[in-house]
Amino acid sequence: MAQKEDCIFCKIANGEIPTDMVMETEELAVFKDASPKKPVHVLIVPKDHYSSLNDDIPEELLGKMMKLIPEVAKKTGVHDSGYRTIINTGDDANQSVKHLHIHICGGAKFTDF
Ligand code: AMP
Ligand code: ZN
Repeated sequence: MAQKEDCIFCKIANGEIPTDMVMETEELAVFKDASPKKPVHVLIVPKDHYSSLNDDIPEELLGKMMKLIPEVAKKTGVHDSGYRTIINTGDDANQSVKHLHIHICGGAKFTDF
């Protein structure tokens, strides 16, 4: 298990900081975004630390993250209405938390890009 000292998402995903947990697997945590941009806004976060998509992430873990998306969508009620998944990587994308995460946003129509 590789966690990074002083990483907020390492702490949340591994239960060291309480959060609004939506669901959990052995390797992944799904919790509500603290500043939701849509009525539904949750994050899929690996329990191991990877700073971004640019890290050498095991294919199996990436596959598990992707496979969990529709399950999370079902659980949060946006599966049929639609949802957007976002992975911000690096400065130009405004990645603010340097621990890999997938945003799942829905519950209202997107009118931008
Ligand atoms: P990004 O800009 O892609 O790095 O996204 C980071 C997201 O994490 C933002 O949408 C923040 O609102 C969210 N966030 C930051 N700190 C917390 C926290 N402690 N708990 C839940 N979400 C958080
Ligand atoms: Zn971390």
